[in-house]
Amino acid sequence: MAQKTQESWTTGVHVDGSFRIDTVILGAGSMGLATAYALSRRGRKVALLDRHMPPHTFGSHHGETRLFRMAYAEGDAYVPLLQDARQMWLELEARTSSESGRGALPLFAQTGVLNAARPDANLLRGVRESLIRY
Ligand SMILES: Cc1cc2nc3c(=O)[nH]c(=O)nc-3n(C[C@H](O)[C@H](O)[C@H](O)COP(=O)(O)OP(=O)(O)OC[C@H]3O[C@@H](n4cnc5c(N)ncnc54)[C@H](O)[C@@H]3O)c2cc1C
Repeated sequence: MAQKTQESWTTGVHVDGSFRIDTVILGAGSMGLATAYALSRRGRKVALLDRHMPPHTFGSHHGETRLFRMAYAEGDAYVPLLQDARQMWLELEARTSSESGRGALPLFAQTGVLNAARPDANLLRGVRESLIRY
């Protein structure tokens, strides 16, 4: 079971009764939770520490939605990571749906994205490179 105090939160998901812990992650936000999930699926005992009780509104992870896109303005080097991310979101969606006992839990919705900028804008250069290469 999760152990809760006012100042910290430690996941109990993979902490056994003897409190053996392989990895301690500081910050249970987007990166910390994703890392803990990946490590715990590999059998690691993980403890997450956070100054607030996640999910909360004092970090970057709050809000209802996030998007990512394959036509990536910051450069095509990111696209393989984004393709992996898409696959992992789909796996997480399938896993949480099957474990919920309540049927499909939609986590991922695929939509289109419209980028509008001047033809010579830096934004479009990365988008174009991503589209051409992938
Ligand atoms: C409004 C908004 C919209 C966004 N939209 C997108 C989007 O569409 N697509 C996208 O890819 N990204 C988006 N981002 C960015 C994305 O949300 C962040 O990159 C991501 O959440 C960062 O994850 P993180 O784990 O680094 O930080 P966080 O999720 O903020 O986690 C950090 C955690 O560390 C904890 N912490 C901090 N200091 C300490 C301390 N001293 N001790 C203990 N714990 C501590 C915090 O409480 C927090 O829980 C958006 C961000 C914002 C704010």
